[in-house]
Amino acid sequence: MSENRSRYDVIIVGAGVAGASLANLLSKKDLKILLIDSKPWHRLGDKPCGDAIGKHHFEETGIRPPSGEELDGYVKGILLYSPSEEVVLRLEGEGFEINRVMFTQRLVKEAIDRGVEFFEETNVSEPIIEKDHVVGVRANRKGQRLELRAEIVVDASGNSRSVIRRLPKDWPITEDIDPRDTNVAYREIRELNRDIEEPEFIRIYVNNKIAPGGYWWDFPKSRYSNVTNVGLGIQGGRGYGHPRDYLYKYVLSREQYRNSRILEAGGALVPTRRPLITMAWNGVIAIGDAAFTVNPVHGGGKGSAMLSALAASEAIKKAFETGDFSAKGLWLINKLYLKLYGIKQASLDIFRIFLQKLSDDDIEYGIRKRIMRESDLYETSSTGVIKRSIFEKLERVLAGLGRPSLLIKLAQVASYMDKIRGLYEEYPESPEMLKEWRERLERLYSEFYDVLR
Ligand SMILES: Cc1cc2nc3c(=O)[nH]c(=O)nc-3n(C[C@H](O)[C@H](O)[C@H](O)COP(=O)(O)OP(=O)(O)OC[C@H]3O[C@@H](n4cnc5c(N)ncnc54)[C@H](O)[C@@H]3O)c2cc1C
Repeated sequence: MSENRSRYDVIIVGAGVAGASLANLLSKKDLKILLIDSKPWHRLGDKPCGDAIGKHHFEETGIRPPSGEELDGYVKGILLYSPSEEVVLRLEGEGFEINRVMFTQRLVKEAIDRGVEFFEETNVSEPIIEKDHVVGVRANRKGQRLELRAEIVVDASGNSRSVIRRLPKDWPITEDIDPRDTNVAYREIRELNRDIEEPEFIRIYVNNKIAPGGYWWDFPKSRYSNVTNVGLGIQGGRGYGHPRDYLYKYVLSREQYRNSRILEAGGALVPTRRPLITMAWNGVIAIGDAAFTVNPVHGGGKGSAMLSALAASEAIKKAFETGDFSAKGLWLINKLYLKLYGIKQASLDIFRIFLQKLSDDDIEYGIRKRIMRESDLYETSSTGVIKRSIFEKLERVLAGLGRPSLLIKLAQVASYMDKIRGLYEEYPESPEMLKEWRERLERLYSEFYDVLR
């Protein structure tokens, strides 16, 4: 095998939605950029997903929303089913069922047109570290060994975390994930033998027997009259088994899927927790799933991956202005991402931990009594704050109805959501203060787990 050496300003490892968005956003700047993916071009963006994404993420990032062939359907809202499926909340909100392959390929194609180099079928094997800084990566490209050097390496390799996983363990960016903070998700895209009613509404079903610690979904692709993305996510680390088995046993056995045809099938792990403790260290940045940027409550990660790419592009731009590629020089990504999404994400992580403790009975009760109305749910999920007025209503509804523990618990959860927001608002201004802040964060989580016990 021969070894080939090249030098870049920025190397982005992974051309999923995170890496492709970053390449697209950065290509507008005057930088020498290399984007790498282990997949061949025709499979770029082909990652198991529910394919749903809110319209607002495109407004927030300035990335052009999907249209034409990139659009599998327009979404007008969500139907949220209670465990008995007798009560349905109707949440209005615009979004898309995206053709993730066409969309990702468009982002990469535009970047290439603006000068980004792209290596397909190239597997990054490890980072190159010199004097406590990442200075490049080693990769294999069709039998050829490459040594690729750059001022900044971006790990956008999703769950494989191919770069940051191999860094020295005392670098905080290597922070690992507790399996209980993940969801194991599996989905099939199916062609049904009937037309779908209200195809512009995606469906979410909460039921702990069918999807313990998660939910199952049916997201119609309204571009076609009878194609849907049906899947299921369950909490990891609890020994529940494979989501595919649950999907087949409890969902695909239903009349509505009889004689349907599988168009695509596959699953993957979803990190459903607060963001990585730091998204930057010396010469390296992590974005997307590699940096745990997924919404902990609903498991949607495409929009927030795009937001993390936006934060990364600003931090990289600044680092090239100052010439400082150390953790300190790249620190801006943390501050920006937290502002754009991370603070809300952390507070929703508290809510997620609470939700995973609830029984079907509690959830049924909460939905039936409209403890959280459609508008409250919308507000909580888009801001990470539970409104005080919900507690006033709760007190009226729950008083004397034998559910005081639920009220007390929810009040405590809301106060911890506030505390976590407060703590993240005090996220350190520079890396030297991270250790102390991290201890405060860990203390707060451990206190919260004690309260929920
Ligand atoms: C079943 C399921 C359903 C989901 N549903 C939704 C949904 O409806 N809406 C939503 O918003 N999110 C959903 N998500 C989450 C969403 O898919 C992810 O958050 C998002 O795709 C993450 O994008 P990413 O770019 O960070 O990672 P990825 O999409 O995983 O991209 C990583 C890329 O890196 C490449 N790569 C990895 N290792 C290497 C290496 N060593 N060398 C070179 N290249 C490498 C891979 O080939 C891949 O292309 C779902 C996830 C699952 C599993």
